[in-house]
Amino acid sequence: MITSFISHPHCDRHHMGPGHPESPKRLEAITARLALSGVLQQTMQSDAKPASDEQLARVHPLRHVRALEKCVPEQGIVTLDADTLMNPDSLIAARLAAGAVVRGVDQVFRQQADNVFCAMRPPGHHAEASEAMGFCFYNNIAVGAAHARAQYGVERIAILDFDVHQCNGTIDIFRDDPGVLICTSFQYPFYPWRYLNPDYPNVIATPLDPGSDSRVFRRAVEHDWLPALQAHRPELVLVSAGFDAHRDDPLADIRLEYEDFHWITELAMDIARTYAGHRLVSALEGGYDLNALGRSAEAHVKALLGLPYDRHA
Ligand SMILES: [Zn+2]
Repeated sequence: MITSFISHPHCDRHHMGPGHPESPKRLEAITARLALSGVLQQTMQSDAKPASDEQLARVHPLRHVRALEKCVPEQGIVTLDADTLMNPDSLIAARLAAGAVVRGVDQVFRQQADNVFCAMRPPGHHAEASEAMGFCFYNNIAVGAAHARAQYGVERIAILDFDVHQCNGTIDIFRDDPGVLICTSFQYPFYPWRYLNPDYPNVIATPLDPGSDSRVFRRAVEHDWLPALQAHRPELVLVSAGFDAHRDDPLADIRLEYEDFHWITELAMDIARTYAGHRLVSALEGGYDLNALGRSAEAHVKALLGLPYDRHA
């Protein structure tokens, strides 16, 4: 397997002030852990390129993109909502984060890689078509899905989102779109307090009670997601890889283990192998305990590389 690792140093320049959990330390923690475990060295590494206006406009109206750009401060930090803030570098990082998924889609369709992990921030899955929120500005995974459709004529795409928060943005953009199957597991009831009971034929929602553990999570995913994925037969598998359902995460109350992130990644890869010629592109979403985030990402990338996971190794 050739696994591509896409990142960009400019992501570190986007910050939302001291004490904000979505901080530059997150990518540092991931990169350090992947390097320490020897996993990073087994990937094909490249830098993201910024998404173009045309690529963003497939999922975000250009007037919204322009309105966001008008909010960028020349210095300091401005507040978009209670937890989403911008500094002068934020939207450049956000363009790169969306562009990373575009580049990942290009790599799998040009057969330069079998699968891809985009280690980028800001995250994207809370960004709705016309609203930035929840630490997110552009919906990175949605921009990648729209690119696959426009550039490669892909008709059936699956987006698997195991972040602990509901992907309201992704649902907002692709609701009632039969070509895009969205499978999402999330703590319920919980932030983002929108689309929590989505009633769309292309959205498979798997709400999890606070305190849910590995067994509950795996059983629910197998029961809810697998039949829908097998019926959909996706030509591309996209993953919104949030690691904030880990038991140590400070923002939520689900109790997943590192092994669960390896397991869900293998499940996604099984679908990609069966229907999509292995094509799978994953993008970082949440995950706020730095140690757990690094080790969860390690389990994820090990699965992408076809390696087993042993937390004691
Ligand atoms: Zn999250």
